[in-house]
Amino acid sequence: MELKNKSLFKQECFIGGKWVKSLNNDTIQVDNPATLKSIGNVPKCGKEETKNAIEAANDAFLNWKNKTAKERSIILKQWQDLIIKNVDDLAHIMTVEQGKPLAESKGEILMGASYIEFYAEEVKRVYGDIIPDPLPDRRIVVIKQPVGVVGAITPWNFPSTMITRKCAPALGVGCPVVIKPASQTPFSALALAVLAEEAGFPPGVFNVLTGSASEIGKELTENPIVKKISFTGSTEVGKILLKQSASTVKKVSMELGGHAPFIVFEDANIDEAVSGAIMSKFRNSGQTCICANRLFVHEKVYEEFLEKFVKKVAEIKVGNGLEESTNSGPLIDQYSLEKVKDHVQDAVKTGAKIAIGGDIHKLGGNFYQPTVLSNVTNKAKITYEETFGPVAPIYKFSSDEEVINLANDTPYGLASYFYARDIGKIWKVAEALEYGIVSVNTGLPTKAEIPFGGVKESGLGREGSKYGLDDYLEIKYLSLIHISEPTR
Ligand code: NAP
Repeated sequence: MELKNKSLFKQECFIGGKWVKSLNNDTIQVDNPATLKSIGNVPKCGKEETKNAIEAANDAFLNWKNKTAKERSIILKQWQDLIIKNVDDLAHIMTVEQGKPLAESKGEILMGASYIEFYAEEVKRVYGDIIPDPLPDRRIVVIKQPVGVVGAITPWNFPSTMITRKCAPALGVGCPVVIKPASQTPFSALALAVLAEEAGFPPGVFNVLTGSASEIGKELTENPIVKKISFTGSTEVGKILLKQSASTVKKVSMELGGHAPFIVFEDANIDEAVSGAIMSKFRNSGQTCICANRLFVHEKVYEEFLEKFVKKVAEIKVGNGLEESTNSGPLIDQYSLEKVKDHVQDAVKTGAKIAIGGDIHKLGGNFYQPTVLSNVTNKAKITYEETFGPVAPIYKFSSDEEVINLANDTPYGLASYFYARDIGKIWKVAEALEYGIVSVNTGLPTKAEIPFGGVKESGLGREGSKYGLDDYLEIKYLSLIHISEPTR
């Protein structure tokens, strides 16, 4: 790693304020998805180390929750400042372990920092309530308190933001956190822990441990000390964690998979729709939960959209994310590459045409060509499954009702997009789409101020915005009897 601040590259876990190895010294090797070369090793922790981290977090809880919101906010701000100060190194670490282009990594680090900034301010406004009681001598008082120790499990596609989006509200309201990052991108998480330590979080408040997903996940979900699980990842793993969490009736937040429709109506501004689709589909090489996965284009503008879209896709420069000119990196691993290959071959077998791309990239390894498929049919797997790769399947439609039904025909309900100008149509379609996020005339809806999250099998709960605090708070009702004489 070529870093200015070499202390950011850690190959140990951070538990109870100490940097530690796994108890049996086992490690996991982490590879660069662009070069396939090893970057380093992280501890392979299991049940015992997870218990230690949970206990350290619990020991820190009382002191942390009893600090004032302002005191916690000051430490959060210091963490944010340190992240911004180290943005270049953090982006470098991310690109080396995750593959996304440096500019995207930098954007993600700053986005992650913006969640900390937002919650450092918002946690000062965790208000309670006083409700009029129907009986004359009583008062109903509502206060909000931190849930307790939080277990957070995060994916590889956003190795930094998925951590800050959970931890900033949790830490801000007074909950200590135990984080398990994805095994393919642990170094971004460990670098955040280096800066959290420097920012002044007391020992045990911020813990990161790497290792066996199933062992760590089982302990986090079944240990009664943990009061809340916040997970971002696949729907499949989310369902396992939900079942495990039932044994101790934990609060849960689930940010799961998506299968976003991207609709272009006949009155859309086609040039805007093309740039929105490029941004939504090809960011992070198509490996985001809110990537456009099915592009529905009205028959009257289909040819125009397809021609302009393919022209833009041809300009995408695939390569190692560390190279300045690259704007699309590799896929995360061979398993992902095989899934993309399979989806494209299956779509072609069921009637689709390749408009551009359609094969492994000449760079080999984990690189795949940015691909556009036209005339895709509803028999293709890609119509129903999340591809998580740089493939844009395009479908033709002729009526509003038809496209709304097609868009909603999925168990997922995270993000959706559409481009239109008629205000009546905009309201009608926005209300009819069964999605947690409806993005109208823009391909990039994410920011700290919005309630991010899905419906149906895309998840439970919201992250970001004032609503993101609720997931880490319990509501307590105080029934107060007013025993003195009423005052005038
Ligand atoms: P994943 O396979 O579900 O893994 C996510 C995390 O869960 C990783 O840390 C993984 O650890 C861990 N994990 C795997 N099996 C586990 C188990 N049995 N118990 C506990 N933890 C376990 O997902 P991914 O491939 O990393 O990420 C891609 C998926 O995430 C996509 O479906 C995408 O749509 C979704 N996603 C959703 C959002 C959202 O906000 N809704 C955001 C980003 C991504 P290891 O790495 O050690 O296996």
